[in-house]
Amino acid sequence: MSALLHVKPAVRALQPYVLAARRARVKINQNENPYDLPVELKRRVLEEALSRPWSRYPDFDPRELLESLARFARWRADGILAGNGSNELIEALLMVTVGEGTPVVIPEPTFSLYALLTGVLGGHPVRVRLGAGFEYDADALMRAQREHRASVVIVCSPNNPTGTVLPPDEVARLCRETDALVAVDEAYHEFAGQSVVPLLHDHGNLIVLRTFSKAMAMAGLRVGYLLASPELVAEVNKARLPYNLNFFSQAAALAVLSDPEPVEAAVARLVRAREVLFRDLVALPGVRPVRSHANFILFALDGRAPATVFGALYEQGVLIRDVSATPGLSDCLRVSVGTDEENAAFLAALRRAMTADGKERA
Ligand code: PMP
Repeated sequence: MSALLHVKPAVRALQPYVLAARRARVKINQNENPYDLPVELKRRVLEEALSRPWSRYPDFDPRELLESLARFARWRADGILAGNGSNELIEALLMVTVGEGTPVVIPEPTFSLYALLTGVLGGHPVRVRLGAGFEYDADALMRAQREHRASVVIVCSPNNPTGTVLPPDEVARLCRETDALVAVDEAYHEFAGQSVVPLLHDHGNLIVLRTFSKAMAMAGLRVGYLLASPELVAEVNKARLPYNLNFFSQAAALAVLSDPEPVEAAVARLVRAREVLFRDLVALPGVRPVRSHANFILFALDGRAPATVFGALYEQGVLIRDVSATPGLSDCLRVSVGTDEENAAFLAALRRAMTADGKERA
């Protein structure tokens, strides 16, 4: 008998979330912040870690971090959970809401983890296509929620990988007009300059997820947080593993929150660079970029296979993301906004790839 027979059939049917381990001179494939944290800040965190016994657990509740997050995000500390990356909190939220057959409204295309985890938990992802320009349709989301009596509606805003947003007043309408939980993943909110956190005051069914992996330049240390009503947070907290956040990552997050100027400056640079990159992509024949509110740009290719162009870029030392296997994105690639030099290298490589021999055409 195969040992795999004991794995849930729904899980065996799922495609895993994978990323090939590729190295490249210009690595602009994971929406990371290309500007690392200042070395003095890193040194302060190292000193702090050195002064602690590593043989002891971190705090059971990272009280100091939660209070600092509360001041930073302008929401109450008892309405915040910190996690080992926001992925962990997406998982905890779904664990306490999704069981066998639970419908969860999930836009398409979006971050693949929502549907994957819903599937692992036995739930039923109800997919709602974005519009022709990848814009959100709040009415379509509400219709799907009502039709399927979905427990949760997940909205990624700005959306990975399209960069499009659902404006806060539309999120408010969604919260008001459905009885589901509305989870808004704000992993990229700093680059959009808008947030739904102020809506938490009026909407007990709203949950906001955020991360230190993008604008906050801490992807390597895995910190995320969830904001909601204290009642909801108490329930999601039941699915959080004890001591999920090590003291090193806690100290680093506290250091960034106490001195946010460097990351704010990096965000401003990246937003300016995104606009330049968008203009440059518009000017490239055969390339159709989507206007983005995040630190990446999705672009469609006319007449060339994304995998071929991806490969031609990689051969030139430029690593971006091939998203063409995602439903609705068969002609698309995604590039993260890098430093000015990285963006220039990407554009030069793309220009060469797009003017290469016609034999490479799809
Ligand atoms: N949400 C979205 C929309 C993302 O794109 C990502 C990173 N790919 C995450 C969450 C994961 O963030 P973290 O590193 O905090 O787990």
